[in-house]
Amino acid sequence: MSTPLLSAKDRTAAVVVLLAQATTPQERATVKRVALQARFLWRCAPCRKNQFLTTEACGCGAERPQGLA
Ligand SMILES: [Zn+2]
Repeated sequence: MSTPLLSAKDRTAAVVVLLAQATTPQERATVKRVALQARFLWRCAPCRKNQFLTTEACGCGAERPQGLA
């Protein structure tokens, strides 16, 4: 992926809308998988929790990877 076209805030807002529209666990899992792939979410390496781009550090203390926001 090259330079993001949308800000971290805009991408997070898009993920929030998509997750709100996903009505089944399968749909939510798909939204999360695609969002991770498109770098609209990030996954904490140590604890594997999905995080919004606007979240700078996971609850476990791990920081958001560089270049995402
Ligand atoms: Zn974590």
